[in-house]
Amino acid sequence: MSDMAMALNTVRSSPAGPQEGWLQLLAHTLPGGVGYFAADSLRCVWASPLLAAYNGYTARSALEKTMPQVLGDNAWNLLEGQLAGDLQRTDLTCLCDHPSPCGNVRKSEIQLRAHRDATSTVLGWLVLVHDRTAQWLADRAVQHSEERLRKFAAATDEAILFHRAGNFLDGNAALQRLTGHSAAELMGRNIYDLLPQRFQGPAGEYERYGGEYLFEAAIVHRSGHEVPVEIVGKTMPEQDASYRIVVLRNITQRKQAQQQEAFQRLHDPLTQLPNRRHLMDLLDNALAQAQQERTQAAVLFVDLDHFKTINDSLGHQAGDRLLCEMARRLRATVRDEDVVARLNGDKFAIVLTQIQSRDNAAAAADKLILAVCQSITLDNTPLTLSPSIGIAMYPDDGLDALELLRNADAAMYHAKDSGRANRQFYAPDMAGRATEVLRKERLLRAAIAQGSFVLHYQPQLRLSDGALAGFEALVRWQHPERGLVGPDEFISFAESRGLITPIGRWVLQEACRQLKEWQTQGLAFVPVAVNLSALEFRQRDVAADIAQVLQDSGLAPQYLDIELTESVLMHNASQGLATLHALKALGVGISIDDFGTGYSSLAYLKRYPIDKLKIDRSFVMDTPGSSEDVAIVTAIIQMGRSLQLSTVAEGVETPEQIALMQRLGCDLAQGHGLSLPMNAAQTVVWLHARQQLAQVA
Ligand code: C2E
Ligand code: CA
Ligand code: CA
Repeated sequence: MSDMAMALNTVRSSPAGPQEGWLQLLAHTLPGGVGYFAADSLRCVWASPLLAAYNGYTARSALEKTMPQVLGDNAWNLLEGQLAGDLQRTDLTCLCDHPSPCGNVRKSEIQLRAHRDATSTVLGWLVLVHDRTAQWLADRAVQHSEERLRKFAAATDEAILFHRAGNFLDGNAALQRLTGHSAAELMGRNIYDLLPQRFQGPAGEYERYGGEYLFEAAIVHRSGHEVPVEIVGKTMPEQDASYRIVVLRNITQRKQAQQQEAFQRLHDPLTQLPNRRHLMDLLDNALAQAQQERTQAAVLFVDLDHFKTINDSLGHQAGDRLLCEMARRLRATVRDEDVVARLNGDKFAIVLTQIQSRDNAAAAADKLILAVCQSITLDNTPLTLSPSIGIAMYPDDGLDALELLRNADAAMYHAKDSGRANRQFYAPDMAGRATEVLRKERLLRAAIAQGSFVLHYQPQLRLSDGALAGFEALVRWQHPERGLVGPDEFISFAESRGLITPIGRWVLQEACRQLKEWQTQGLAFVPVAVNLSALEFRQRDVAADIAQVLQDSGLAPQYLDIELTESVLMHNASQGLATLHALKALGVGISIDDFGTGYSSLAYLKRYPIDKLKIDRSFVMDTPGSSEDVAIVTAIIQMGRSLQLSTVAEGVETPEQIALMQRLGCDLAQGHGLSLPMNAAQTVVWLHARQQLAQVA
């Protein structure tokens, strides 16, 4: 430095001295600008071209210029105070903005070094100027990116943490929400502590190999429960390989949705019981276990008796509630390890595991029957339901799930045939049953397509004078092999197979057409009664349908009666009432069929626009012998009269019954005692005969 001082002294005394050569060399070699200012005047003694150019001078024109002139106002503002202050300072530094000629701001670092003599008196100032723009820009970029990251981390819902070789360094607010731990609590802790044991190994591997793909794991929340997460890690590029950022996303909802979806795939949405598909798997497992443990297993096929009819008359909501309750009872009656599944509709399957004998299975089935038969109250209506149960034993009745289920199904049909509300074990000769059902359905469909039905007509006579009061149309199926088949054999079957609507429509059309024809022939000016099943009454827009059929046939509405059973009206009362009023508005008559067997209450009868009560055959059958039945029939007739409804005695067979009904004041009668149901041709003959009789009389 003393050389430098000498050199500068020389410069000061003779600017063009011999040392100027190496001074110029130095000035050109230094990366920044350099110059020397006198301490007292602060005027430039010497400036390298770079320093001089800093504020637009040349090395020569800068000479004798003041420090503020050479360094500019920005720098001077920062330096002035420092220079005036502490006199002992030898080094002053500032970083100042320096507008470049093209207007960009550049950053310059300006250093002042005091040049002192032996007594420490300041002789001058060596000035060094460095362009620090590049570094400043780089620093600023880092600062910005960190700030951005921080802002992003704070804003995102994904938990973010930084760690070095597993040691927690930093985390965002979402991390606290996810884990329950604040970043401060986690500081310095091992991040693997956040994972359940089973995920620690794989996560460690992931980190060791610098994994950057997404994987699913869970974290342990501060309160102890696990939270499913999706994790992705990344090694930070500017840092060493052990410095990583980890992003964790809470996937609880997705997991729940997946679980729910998986559950739904395997369970019945109404009862939440396993569905058929799940049953087959569970049954396979149960059979494998039974084989291993050399025990037996039983497959029970449960079908609720008459459920369809109840469902149709109650309405589907009540029907659903009924199914849920039955499902609950079935489930509650067997052991936890047994399987209860819903196959479809009113069909359930139960797998009894670890059964020692057929007796065990029989006892379980009996308990199930009892449970289902308990009465239940729906919409204030007490109901009882019964099941028919078929049982197939493993290994005796089948070795695999499909065979056992099929055989239990066949046994269930046998239980239905044996009067329902009972259980039957599978026997090899039952196997054909199921195919029989399919065959019957096929034949019935063909009959519908070909219109292979006929109507028989049964007269209703007025008891006071024997006059014809009407006909009831009764359908028969012209079976290709068996001849005429009665409705009891196919109406409820057709209902259960969804085939009742086309049959019902055919009956309605044919009855109206036939009566119109007879009227044209001058034969019968009385109504024809058509039976409407519960399903028909609910399913279609009955009133509009009937209006259409009447119009098409040209039959006047007062010549049509509709017969409905009580249960149809009792349940889903409001909809039923609306339909009844619509029918009434058409002008057709309405009869309550099989009266006394359902749940009719006087209150309902009063509300409904009804014309006739048909006293069920079961009450007439044992009269006049059974005084109890006589009492019931008497009560119905009196009630009918007080409600201004006609009464019809059904199934009147004997002269005594006719006489009794007459005496009790019953209005009409129908039955074998008066006339069997007849086909159309027979009816015409019967009508002619009556006309002739009347003429003779
Ligand atoms: P229902 O409406 O009670 O019809 C009366 C049934 O009793 C008829 O049986 C009739 O033949 C029978 N019957 C009449 N008089 C006597 C008698 O003195 N003694 C005895 N033992 N029986 C008598 P059918 O024709 O077999 O019909 C049975 C049931 O089938 C009918 O009972 C009705 O509920 C239903 N049904 C008949 N035709 C139709 C139809 O077109 N549509 C619908 N949905 N159901 C029908
Ligand atoms: Ca009837
Ligand atoms: Ca009846």
